[in-house]
Amino acid sequence: MLPDLKVLPLELLSELKAGLPSPAQRREPAPAVTDRRLDFSDVCGQEMTIRALSIAAAGGHNVLLVGPPGGGKTMLARRLATILPPLTEKERVEAALVHSVSGLPEDDILRGVRPFRAPHHSASIAGLVGGGSPVRPGEVSLAHQGVLFLDEMPEFGPASLQCLRQPMEDHRVTLVRADGRLNFPARFTLVGAANPCPCGHLGDRNKACTCAPGVVDRYQARIGGPLMDRIDVVVRVERPDASKITSCEGGPTSNSLHASVCEARERSLRRSSTGENPSGSALLGQCDLSDKARGFLEASANRHHLSGRGITRVLRVARTIADLDQEGRVHEGHLAEALSYRQAGVT
Ligand SMILES: [Zn+2]
Repeated sequence: MLPDLKVLPLELLSELKAGLPSPAQRREPAPAVTDRRLDFSDVCGQEMTIRALSIAAAGGHNVLLVGPPGGGKTMLARRLATILPPLTEKERVEAALVHSVSGLPEDDILRGVRPFRAPHHSASIAGLVGGGSPVRPGEVSLAHQGVLFLDEMPEFGPASLQCLRQPMEDHRVTLVRADGRLNFPARFTLVGAANPCPCGHLGDRNKACTCAPGVVDRYQARIGGPLMDRIDVVVRVERPDASKITSCEGGPTSNSLHASVCEARERSLRRSSTGENPSGSALLGQCDLSDKARGFLEASANRHHLSGRGITRVLRVARTIADLDQEGRVHEGHLAEALSYRQAGVT
């Protein structure tokens, strides 16, 4: 952590207006991804990843894409920006404010486009969570109401990844300095991409992994348990078979995926006017499980040794999957799919 940076509970968004940097002191943070030419229809043989990204877009779930180099993780993650639901009026104002105080253009945000930030793994901690002198919002705040994409996530280093924990928990960052305190909002969806091991080929069908077992464990531990605990969807991204590419007629278009995502998001907003993720009995009520689905969940929880928190995460993802399927109730199939995204992709 920076010596002059301390993280405290949130107060008001309006405090953000205090102590802003003057235009001359503003810097140019990592570029947002706004390339309109990207489309999921260009992608062949990656149905599972596209499905996982649609679930992330619809429910705001954090995602980790794991797979060998050349499998298309980055290219897939960048296309997520093309299917995110539009910002609501309130979200638009909040996100525009952060960009405005950073001296960045707000035009896309004012049109309802969610921010998509992709900082490099060499970014400083101040660059990621905010700080510096004068204090500036970090990437977590520039990604407010949008997506923070961390390519090559294990390369960010433990100190940087550690700094993401608090904003991910509180959806805000408070920077305390000698001359005052600044709050920045930081409610973002995290999308990470990672090789399964340093050589990149663990679990690869076509190439053997050359890493020693201890090295693999240390590499996978770099992201850290507390951060992994907040990632609901882990998906293995394979290099598609040559046959899939040659016979490819194009996947679903970003437009059609965007329509399903928006419909799912609207269903979820109709259930909860606050837009907050429910938990406990409220979540169970919204899932409206049949006896059979409940039995399936209990058996799965025992088999996979799921904690109460683990069960909540599975239910949240299953609720989003049911929304994408336009189902009022969460069925066994939704639960089974949600369970399949639990860290299964790592090895
Ligand atoms: Zn390896």
